[in-house]
Amino acid sequence: MEFKITVLGGDGIGPDVVAESIKVLDAVGKKYGHKFNFEKALLGGVAIEATGQALPEQTLRQCLASDAVLLGAVGDPKYDSPNAPVKPESGLLAIRQGLGLFANIRPVKMFSKLVNSTALKPEIVKDVDMVFVRELTGSVYFATPKKRFNDERGRGAVDTMQYHEDEIERILRVGFELARKRSKKLTSIDKANVLKSSQLWREIAEEVKKDYPDVTLNHVLVDAASMYLISRPSTFDVLVTENMFGDILTDEASMLAGSMGMLPSASLAGIPSDNTRCLGLYEPCHGSAPDITGLGIANPIATILSAAMMLRYSLALPKEADAIEKAVNAAIADGLVTKDIAQVGQKYLATGQMGSAVADKI
Ligand code: NAD
Repeated sequence: MEFKITVLGGDGIGPDVVAESIKVLDAVGKKYGHKFNFEKALLGGVAIEATGQALPEQTLRQCLASDAVLLGAVGDPKYDSPNAPVKPESGLLAIRQGLGLFANIRPVKMFSKLVNSTALKPEIVKDVDMVFVRELTGSVYFATPKKRFNDERGRGAVDTMQYHEDEIERILRVGFELARKRSKKLTSIDKANVLKSSQLWREIAEEVKKDYPDVTLNHVLVDAASMYLISRPSTFDVLVTENMFGDILTDEASMLAGSMGMLPSASLAGIPSDNTRCLGLYEPCHGSAPDITGLGIANPIATILSAAMMLRYSLALPKEADAIEKAVNAAIADGLVTKDIAQVGQKYLATGQMGSAVADKI
């Protein structure tokens, strides 16, 4: 089969890690007889440099005409000043909205060889294998009013946490569908003891549950969830939550796997199913890592595993997705590591060497 994939290298280490994903996808194409046509486009700081916009219209058009989008990372300290007129990260929010990507899926899995590479005790993290489903286009990051104002008390600001039932229902269905394919256990995270939007969330979760009698639904408050993620993370399987809670909790959970460099993600415009293709954007969970840009030590595994998710969810190629995940497993089982996951004194590979090692395993 032949596929059109838009590649957004972005900023910092983004282009380097994406190049390794392409290397691995080319190996998959060769082995299974597919042709992946990669077409580059601009997003983030590099796009601002070239066009003045973080998400140029041409990029959005190209992404919409693709089978899938592969992204490195965006962000450049050059734009860190609060007075910068455009920020690279605004391109990310815009592309998620522009492509209608409402579901962010982040697997967090501990590779047994890396059990000593995290900040937590090995016995706590050794069985971690969970998938976060985060709502991506609603709630407090987008709803209005969202503004600064001045009144008799001085400066004020307001953000709005708001959801409509259709937004809640579709993300919960993604959670239930994924839970159905795994251990049939779904944890819904909210703050229903305080927030109206969470009370609606919980109500709808119970309604959607009726369509999934085979899945056990469990509600956990977000503050408790943040504690359990550290104290007993392996008790979670599929977790679903709203936009801001998901933003915070997924970064916390990323530490369970040892390094940001290990964590892939998919952002989808539909509910994933085995044989249907839906547009998606695939990217590592990490940012542009300006502190290591240009050093050749970035870990490309998160982006390589994101490519596996792309094969599974957007291109309906589950066998090929499995092949990438097995290749990563095999490389790690051989003791191959990049600097971020190496033990003290352990020899580590450069970004390109790690990508080639995984491609060779295909
Ligand atoms: P970051 O994820 O870029 O880096 C955090 C730490 O993790 C750094 O020490 C970095 O060296 C390390 N790290 C990240 N990816 C790595 C990899 N593949 N291999 C090895 N080590 C890795 O987060 P940050 O420093 O807070 O942000 C840097 C920039 O990235 C900011 O401009 C931020 O806004 C942006 N950002 C973008 C995204 C995105 O594109 N989706 C996500 C998060 C942050």
